[in-house]
Parts: sequence; structure tokens; C-alpha cells
Amino acid sequence: MCLTNPHSIAGNHAPRALATSIPSYPLLGALQAGTLWNHNEEIPISFMPRSGTESTDQQRKKTKMLFEEIFRHTNLSLLWLNDGDGIVRIAFNDETLSQSQVRTKCRDVSQNKWTINLKSIMPDNDCPSPNERHTINHECMHLLAFVHEHQVPEWPSHFSFNRHKVIKAYGGDESKGGIPHWQIESNIMTPYTPEKLENYSPFDRKSVLLYQFSGDVMQNGLGTPFNPDLSDIDKAVLVLNYPRLNPGPLVPRWTVSYAADVIGIKGESREKIVAATHPHDVRRLYSEWSKRSQRFQQGEVIEA
Ligand SMILES: [Zn+2]
Repeated sequence: MCLTNPHSIAGNHAPRALATSIPSYPLLGALQAGTLWNHNEEIPISFMPRSGTESTDQQRKKTKMLFEEIFRHTNLSLLWLNDGDGIVRIAFNDETLSQSQVRTKCRDVSQNKWTINLKSIMPDNDCPSPNERHTINHECMHLLAFVHEHQVPEWPSHFSFNRHKVIKAYGGDESKGGIPHWQIESNIMTPYTPEKLENYSPFDRKSVLLYQFSGDVMQNGLGTPFNPDLSDIDKAVLVLNYPRLNPGPLVPRWTVSYAADVIGIKGESREKIVAATHPHDVRRLYSEWSKRSQRFQQGEVIEA
């Protein structure tokens, strides 16, 4: 999982499933420089006014609950404002795809428009379904500047798209659930270069930022799982990139030390990260370890 983020696309289920979480334009969040929130920042956030888009109390409740659960693992907080206020604004528009702007992009969107759209969030149930959890959690991670797991630079050796089949399965007229070719490239098949990323962990098949791909579009026929919730590695990278001096009271297990263990950081690197007392230092040391670790895997250095 890298700092900076549907379902089987086989058969007749493809368009509907894809539409729940594939954004309609690039989400350049990968812990890219300049997209991160400041440490300990309070993020002004709201829902779009009910007059402009459909929005029920149940939709709002589910979204707020899952956003808050994610933010517990960070040193950030959410400041919920009146409808339409703040720099992050959430809509529930089923006419367009789910998507989320990262911090810097949020500031470029005019105040009367949403910055996050959550599609297919049912208006009348309090408890989020697995599909709803996937959509809300996935887009919240984009908000925090994380990119798709299937676009990290270091795919495992067996993870390789059959490009022709991906385009055939996902492409087509957007009004009918299809995705334009350039968006398929930017959101699915084009990996980030390491220079674009602040850091990234080893490939995580359980990440909420990994799409569920049918084996039909992979060269070896092996698909990826549907992940409605954050994996332990998702949570660990939240902790290491937005570290708190003490873990959130509702997630006491998630210390920096525990997060480092989940990622697999050992030795002197782990000691330095755990001993760091400022969030900048924790993130910097983790990023340094991340880059050294990738070079280690490529045989360029002896010890990660
Ligand atoms: Zn996404």
C-alpha cells in the first residue's frame, strides 16, 4: 500500500460493480509531494446541501461513521460543518462515479461543487453493506492521499494485467457504465513511478485500495479479492504517515511501534521510527525505510 488507493468484472455484473468505485478521472494522490494534509490538521468537511443532491440522514450517518473510524488512526481530525461549507464536500450522486479529490485539488474546486462523490449509498439503511463500506472507505483513503494498490510500482511478479481484456471489460460509453480508455490507463493499468510516491509498503492483497479484478483480465488468470474494509497494512500506513504521539483512545493497539511491526520494519530502522518524537520524523524515517526496502528487494542494498 502506498501513501500518497468493485467487484468482479466478469459477465453481466461488470458495469454496475465497476461503477461503485472507479473514479471518472485520475486521482493523483499517491503520497505524492504536496498532496498530504499537514500533521494534526483539522479538516473542514460537510455534506452538499440537500436541495442540490439527494441526501438522507442514513447516507450521512454511514459516511460519517466510517470516515471517523479511519481518522482515529491518524493525527488528523474532521470538523463537520453546515451543508456546503468547508473544503471537503460530500455528495451522493448516482449519476456519476465514486471519486475523491486529494487535499490540494479540493482547494481548486468551486465552493458550490462536491469534492467527494459516493455512488450507490442506499438512502434508507443505517448499517453500511460491504459494497457501501468499500466505497466509503476507499474514497476516504484517497482523501488522505493514498493511491490505488494496483498502481504501486512494485507489483508482485504474478500480478500482471492482460491489457486487451481490461480495456474490453471496463471500456465503453460512460453513460452505460463504461470507462473511457484514458481513464482505464490512469486509474488501473499505469503504475506510479517510485519518484512520484512519498513511500509505499509491500503489495497488499487485502488493501481497500485494491480493486477486485476478475481472473479473466489477469495474465495468469488469478483475480484479486473484494476488500470492503481497511487491511492491517492500510491502518499501519495511516499510523506511520500521520503518526500520533499516543494512539487514538478508541484504537489503543495502533501505536507507531505496532504499525512498524505490521509493516515488517526491523532492526535499527524500527528503533529509530519508534524513538522519533515528531510526526515529521516518523514519516521521514518510514519513507527512508520504504525506499531502502524496495532497493533491497531489487538487490541494490544488502540490508533493508
Ligand atoms: Zn479509487
